[in-house]
Amino acid sequence: MSFKDLQLNRPILRAVAEAGYDNPTLVQEKTIPLVLAKKDVIVSAQTGTGKTAAFALPILQQLFDKQDASKKGKKIRALIVSPTRELATQIADNFKTYSTYTNLRTTVIFGGTSIEPQIDILKKGVDILIATPGRLLDLHKQDIINLDYIETLVLDEADLMLDMGFIDDVKKIERLCTQEKQILLFSATIPFKVEQLANTILNEPERVEV
Ligand code: AMP
Repeated sequence: MSFKDLQLNRPILRAVAEAGYDNPTLVQEKTIPLVLAKKDVIVSAQTGTGKTAAFALPILQQLFDKQDASKKGKKIRALIVSPTRELATQIADNFKTYSTYTNLRTTVIFGGTSIEPQIDILKKGVDILIATPGRLLDLHKQDIINLDYIETLVLDEADLMLDMGFIDDVKKIERLCTQEKQILLFSATIPFKVEQLANTILNEPERVEV
């Protein structure tokens, strides 16, 4: 299978080709069509399988296809929640690479560092936000972040997030994304507590295991 077979559009195919990817990985093959079909999905995949592109590429495609000029850049439309600064930064770097030939804007926020520069960037408007839970809730509380227009919410490394004690934060973030939305949950393993979380917030999810 090729990336073209996955119905990705030209700006995204071009960026993927420039990144040196010849063909989709298994998790990409299985996940991308489900995301494009607007399903909620639970994906059990380890880091290194290409799981980031499995959500980043179809999210970019959906946002790119459905750009409303009046909303452009003013509303955050995709939110990726990640447990650590390092992972969040990696995800943001991937989104930036894959969106080179779109005008979609990606920003990453995390705790343990000065908040002011993050506020300045957010005020300019972003389409895709990658965030760690604490800093996200902090900036939401300060009315810097509006989560009312999130179309797709990704919970990445869900098992790690729960191990780190973020369960209540994650549930709160999901509730703050008030609009009807697609939820994608990625986890290396699916222990009972991840299953329980998925049962609480996902809507008839499809499952992918690699
Ligand atoms: P991830 O599992 O998302 O952390 O990705 C692992 C690595 O695989 C990253 O360095 C990606 O840039 C790379 N990668 C993702 N998809 C592909 C692909 N289809 N072909 C080759 N490399 C890829």
